[in-house]
Amino acid sequence: MKIYLKKNLRKSILRGHPWIYGDALKMSDSSKPNDLVQIYDNKGFLAWGFYDPYSPIKVRVLSTQSQKPNQALFLNRVTSALRLRKNLSSQGTNAFRCINGEADYLPGCVCDIYNDVAVLQFDGQGPHEFWTQYLSPEELLKTLDVQSLYLKCRHINSNRAELIAGRENSTPQILENYIKFEVDILNGQKTGFFLDQRENRNYVRHLSHQKRVLNLFSYTGGFSVYAGAGGASHVCSVDIAQAALAQAQCNWELNNLPKERHEIVTVDVHDFLQVQLRKGISPIELWDVIIVDPPSMAKAKEHKEIAIRKYVELFSLAAKLLSPQGHLILSSCSSHINFEDFHDIISECLSKVRKRGQILRVSGQAPDHPYLQACREQEYLKFFDIVVSD
Ligand code: SAH
Repeated sequence: MKIYLKKNLRKSILRGHPWIYGDALKMSDSSKPNDLVQIYDNKGFLAWGFYDPYSPIKVRVLSTQSQKPNQALFLNRVTSALRLRKNLSSQGTNAFRCINGEADYLPGCVCDIYNDVAVLQFDGQGPHEFWTQYLSPEELLKTLDVQSLYLKCRHINSNRAELIAGRENSTPQILENYIKFEVDILNGQKTGFFLDQRENRNYVRHLSHQKRVLNLFSYTGGFSVYAGAGGASHVCSVDIAQAALAQAQCNWELNNLPKERHEIVTVDVHDFLQVQLRKGISPIELWDVIIVDPPSMAKAKEHKEIAIRKYVELFSLAAKLLSPQGHLILSSCSSHINFEDFHDIISECLSKVRKRGQILRVSGQAPDHPYLQACREQEYLKFFDIVVSD
């Protein structure tokens, strides 16, 4: 099957950009979802890709070599992706993203490893239909050297995980920087755990000693447990999801941290902040470290302006609960908000509360979540530590 481009994307594709939108194609809908296609422009053959009728990204590029890609090539890419993550196990970590889609040259295919359990997730129905032809569950189980392989379908509303190879084990215990967590694959968000914050969590551990730490949007307590392990005097995890908080408590105890130092509050973060501010809190109740890691607020480009306003509002409410010289730790996982936008958001937030900030750290996603140099769209995570003063 051949597909012709009407836009000149030759340079961009040869540099490694993996996406072709519908408006760049001369023809589109005669290809089937799982078709391997040859991409041509007026200069001739350009690349191999696969066709996806369900998404605005109509073709994902697989290779710019002339040979037809095959199963062996894809399995090789899985092995290369694993090799890139090899050093993690020597750092007391057995949970990591082993395939990060486009960035590992397997576009639309994500796989996370939790100890000896792997969880596969496709970026929509097109990648699902394409990749299941080439990556057989048994072959993947062997290549990834795991005991269980689950498939979690994002495009099917339930987000249910299904065992597709190996044995049942839906609550693996993992080690991350020598800290233990239990991951609930069936009921957890995404593939179960937010591995992309691993290094940022470790950073929080090292600044938490004897501090009062408030973890907003805590999920299963990733930042909370690290803060506890770093010697925080008190940690409060706030999330709207009761099950996530029950898991956070379980993770806290799994690491033998003093029970009385961890508090969980099941509530909408916005209500939590409003109530705290309305009742007025005494100086000793202020927080030395506040982590704000909300879910994506700008899922599409059109929502960017509204999202910016929401971030400013949320962050400035949180800033009001900080003790003098407290650490405001802000994160955003929305790819439509870039680092420059995030700087502007922080600037707005600080001027709203009439404070000044010292930026101690700027970072992003952990190295097991690489992005292609040619595809900055996949650089999504921002993490800032700001010390706030009058
Ligand atoms: N920081 C976490 C990941 C956060 S994921 C980690 O490192 O693991 C986002 C979390 O925000 C989810 O657990 C979700 O339940 C929660 N959430 C979403 N909207 C919320 C709201 N309005 N109030 C409180 N929690 C919310």
